[in-house]
Amino acid sequence: MYDIQQIRADFPILSREVYGKPLVYLDNGATTQKPRCVVDAITDEYYSVNANVHRGVHFLSQQATELHEASRETVRKFINAGSINEIVFTRGTTESINLLASSFGEAFLHPGDEVIVSVMEHHSNIVPWQLLAERKCINLKVIPMNDRGELLMDEYEKLFTDRTKIVSVVHVSNVLGTVNPIKEMIKIAHNHDVPFLVDAAQSIPHMAVDVKDLDADFLVFSGHKVYGPTGVGVLYGKEEWLNKLPPYQGGGEMIKHVSFERTTFNELPFKFEAGTPDYIGTTGLAKALDYVSAIGMDKIAAYEHELTEYATQRLKTIPGMRIFGEAAEKGSVISFLVGDIHHFDMGTLLDRLGIAVRTGHHCAQPLMQRLGIEGTVRASFGIYNTKEEIDVLVAGIERVSKMF
Ligand code: PMP
Repeated sequence: MYDIQQIRADFPILSREVYGKPLVYLDNGATTQKPRCVVDAITDEYYSVNANVHRGVHFLSQQATELHEASRETVRKFINAGSINEIVFTRGTTESINLLASSFGEAFLHPGDEVIVSVMEHHSNIVPWQLLAERKCINLKVIPMNDRGELLMDEYEKLFTDRTKIVSVVHVSNVLGTVNPIKEMIKIAHNHDVPFLVDAAQSIPHMAVDVKDLDADFLVFSGHKVYGPTGVGVLYGKEEWLNKLPPYQGGGEMIKHVSFERTTFNELPFKFEAGTPDYIGTTGLAKALDYVSAIGMDKIAAYEHELTEYATQRLKTIPGMRIFGEAAEKGSVISFLVGDIHHFDMGTLLDRLGIAVRTGHHCAQPLMQRLGIEGTVRASFGIYNTKEEIDVLVAGIERVSKMF
């Protein structure tokens, strides 16, 4: 059973008001709210354990290290990775992709080589590759999509050449909600002996993700989108790949031995973790993953699917409603415009009614160009949203529509 009342009670912020109205938080694609257990775990560690990890001989340092490494194991289990050596802690999805683009680019990309991305990527899965393209004189190739927001698999296949070195594609679009057939796409890449990076920022919070089942070479996500703290994220990489890649940043922790003549690097995963890690953030992330695991990722997926279906049906009854993204398989994100009401006006007026949505290009300007629009209003749902809140959204949009 899905105990929505209990879940809502775990998130203190949900009971606050904005402008004298109950908060209806529908901006989960941007970031999620935090359950009390996550905030408590962070506070408790600061109050009773805090010490720098890995370096200290003293009791607190060892306890903090144990907590930090236990969090790595929690992440490993959550995505079913084979080893904790495959779990690199970063600041988030963006840093994970930059790390990989930089390190993979350094080791494996040469002038004339090609990287495949898709038209629906977030800027954080475009710009790092573009920066690399400038440094390394490589080319970016883009998988197109149809008008429903589904990637064209035939066109994808055609993009491979003997210069293709890596594919990097989003699992679930933060704008269209499209769930890409990532397992099939990985298989196709592997048929061409090309590794695959999955941007799982928008899938990890909403469905079970199993890196072994997907056979993903790399997979990245952010803690703050899965009910964990900001400033912590993950890069998963198959051990055989991570072993072949050079370090990203230099500093403490990532070394084995330093001299002015020659420096050797630490084992995985520490080779990629220069400096003091956010060891309290990782505790918060692990708590968040335990929290959603206890509810059950399959139950969460089913509940959010029902919410999204309900919202789609209700929104479609509004005159002038245009929904962007009608893929056969869709996550809990709905982007829309109503008539010629500017997305910013709609978002601002909904805000006055206590409804938090996102407006703008959602860090996906090339996708906006493909859609021929400047931006959308985006409602994105999480584990604690309800049909009643969707009714409030629909009534709000109807009210705003009447003002124009
Ligand atoms: N990729 C996708 C699909 C996203 O939705 C986001 C966040 N909106 C990111 C990457 C970047 O995540 P972060 O800002 O946490 O690094």
